[in-house]
Amino acid sequence: MGTHFWKPGDHVLHRGVGFSRLWWAMPATVVQDAPERIALYWVAGTQWKAVRQHATSRDLLTTKKVDLVDRVWTGTDVLMLKNPQEAHSVWLMREAGQIRPICWYVNLETAARRTPLGWDVMDYELDIVIHPDFSGWEWKDEDAFKGLCRAGVFSKEEAQAIRQEGERVIRKMQAKESPFGDGWEKWIPSLEWTIPVLPPDWAALFG
Ligand code: MG
Repeated sequence: MGTHFWKPGDHVLHRGVGFSRLWWAMPATVVQDAPERIALYWVAGTQWKAVRQHATSRDLLTTKKVDLVDRVWTGTDVLMLKNPQEAHSVWLMREAGQIRPICWYVNLETAARRTPLGWDVMDYELDIVIHPDFSGWEWKDEDAFKGLCRAGVFSKEEAQAIRQEGERVIRKMQAKESPFGDGWEKWIPSLEWTIPVLPPDWAALFG
C-alpha cells in the first residue's frame, strides 16, 4: 500500500531512534530493499552523527537532551543485512578496502521502521561477534546491557527476549541459514558508488 522501495545505489539514512530521541545517523547506500531483506552498505570515511559518549549508556538515557556530534566512520566497510521484521541485523564487517571479513557482527535492535529518509531502529546495546570463518562467537557489551537492565531501561521479560533473539541468530549461523549461507562474503560494491552524505533533514523525527 504505497510503500516506497529504494533502488540499489540509492542513498538513505540508517538511524538509531529510541525513547523519542535520535542517537545516531549513518548515511548508507542501498544494496537491496525487499520485503524480507534490507541490505545497506557504508564505508570507512563516511561522515555520520552520533552521541559524544558511547551510544546508549545509562547516563544518556536519563538526560533530556542528546547532543550529536560529527563523526567519521573508520577502519571498516560494513554490509548490513536485516530482515526488517526481525529484532537484529547482521553486519558483514571488512577491513576498509578489503574483501575478506574481519567478523560477522550481530546487532540486537528493534525491527526496522521505514521513514522518508531510510530506516530507524532502536539499539538494544547487547551484541554478538562471530568469527569470520564461523568457528566461534561471543557476546559483546554484556556489562553495558546488564547496566541498562538494572536501570530499568529493559524489563526482565524484554531482556530475556533480547538474549533469546541473540541465541536464535547463533543457531541460524550454526545451521548456515540466511543471511549466513547466502554467499554475501563474495559481494562487492559497484565502483561507481560514491560515499553518501547526511541530508539536510537528517535529524527529523517521524511519527
Ligand atoms: Mg548494538
